[in-house]
Amino acid sequence: MADKTQEPGGIHFPFPFTPYPIQKDFMAALYQVLEAGKIGIFESPTGTGKSLSLICGALSWLRDFEQKKRQEEARLLEAEATAAPLSNGKDPLLLPLASQGTLGPPKDPAEPDWVTQFVQKKEERDLVDRLKEEQVRRRKREERLQQIRHNAQLKYAAKRMRQEDEETERLLDLSREMLAAGSEPEQLASEEEELVLAEYESDEEKRKASGADEDEDDLEEEHVTKIYYCSRTHSQLAQFVHEVQRSPFGKDTRLVSLGSRQNLCVNDDVRKLGSVQLINDRCVDMQRSRRGKKSIAEEAKPRRRKQEQRTACPFYSHERLQLLRDEVLVGAKDIEQLVALGKEARACPYYGSRFAIPAAQLVVLPYQMVLHAATRQAAGIRLQGQVVLVDEAHNLMDTITGMHSVEVSGSQLCQAHSQLLQYMERYGKRLKAKNLMYIKQILYLLEKFVAVLGGNVKQNPNTQSLSQAGTELKTINDFLFQSQIDNINLFKVEVFIRLPARPGCPQVPSAFLRLSSAQSPRDTGLLTVKSNDGG
Ligand code: SF4
Repeated sequence: MADKTQEPGGIHFPFPFTPYPIQKDFMAALYQVLEAGKIGIFESPTGTGKSLSLICGALSWLRDFEQKKRQEEARLLEAEATAAPLSNGKDPLLLPLASQGTLGPPKDPAEPDWVTQFVQKKEERDLVDRLKEEQVRRRKREERLQQIRHNAQLKYAAKRMRQEDEETERLLDLSREMLAAGSEPEQLASEEEELVLAEYESDEEKRKASGADEDEDDLEEEHVTKIYYCSRTHSQLAQFVHEVQRSPFGKDTRLVSLGSRQNLCVNDDVRKLGSVQLINDRCVDMQRSRRGKKSIAEEAKPRRRKQEQRTACPFYSHERLQLLRDEVLVGAKDIEQLVALGKEARACPYYGSRFAIPAAQLVVLPYQMVLHAATRQAAGIRLQGQVVLVDEAHNLMDTITGMHSVEVSGSQLCQAHSQLLQYMERYGKRLKAKNLMYIKQILYLLEKFVAVLGGNVKQNPNTQSLSQAGTELKTINDFLFQSQIDNINLFKVEVFIRLPARPGCPQVPSAFLRLSSAQSPRDTGLLTVKSNDGG
């Protein structure tokens, strides 16, 4: 594909063909906005190549930004080597400090000059050390990615590891069969007993058992300046990734596509659970079991059957995830390609893609992952100092409203009440007083929510009918007073519901409260809650 160099405003914009004036203007304007660190709203008619202009404009800016940063770094390191003063008042790397008058916090007038100089020198040294570390890390990453580009390292390494695992398992089975087939071992004299080998565990096995080889710190990297591109649907995101692949930036851009576990999970046993919630819960459960983190109280208790059945996910292997993370960063891949890669490498693409975020230059993700604080945090997305491109932004308001709204039907509330009541009757005596109190509060809330809809929790939801139909809009305060729940601290109840299983609370009430997504044949009304604080 032709790489036509275009230079509107003296800026080099690689483009796959000669761009139209509208595309040149788009790229130049986008570049200016990014350079000035401002917010821009762009509109362009359908079919004018918006995505391509967006890709080439934004990635050209990132290319120039990285180049300038590298030049500044080189200059600073050279200045340090020749003992020249570091700050010329223009360095972007030093500006935040230089703008304060000195390299450091504002000078206290009572502070002697030698103290000021000492502090300044120390900050300069720290900065240089940080730059050196960054350089080493960058060089190592580039070497790794280069190796992958040329050797298809992941495929060979994953295949080799898989073969080794299979061979070890086969030999272990043979040994077990031999032992099972043999007669009872003869009694040995005590001096002979000492010659028998003790149960053996290799260092690697011990590390695996203790989880020490799965230190996630090794998978984490320093966050580089990057562009987050978000759109509404996965098909729009996939289309964007294909555009990047076709653009002149396709081969050299470190791009990572993010999706949910439902999109990216490659463990068939977990995938077949179907619903997002169940998949998430099972995966988190497996991670907990992998880490084997238990409280002292849990350790002291005899294990319950359910806990014994828990196994770690075979696709969450530290070594393979590290390889997958690097492979993800080589060449642009959409969600389907990530899943195929994960299956081939027997490593989880959900976690592999998340570990690739820090080093990525372009992160492609759905709106919800950027706009929802908890999701952003869970995915390890840091927006400070980064560029965010929102495509199809006319959908933003609907998405934000949808994200902070929830619809609960009367029959779901009745079901939740019935299940929680059964839970309390069954386990009530084994609960701690505080847990029991919260469960009673939740039952009370459910009863009042149903009552406000005109129903009754004591009756079968399928045979109840509404006394009055229609839609009513209420403020939060009106709703709280009318449903007589203004005396309950809902924030505390919410925290209780979100808590995971713990000693003293033998089952998780939230599991009982998990409302069935299947609609019941007849609803007793609909309660729609829209949060007005974004929380
Ligand atoms: S670790 Fe990955 S593959 Fe395993 S269950 Fe979780 S999402 Fe699925």
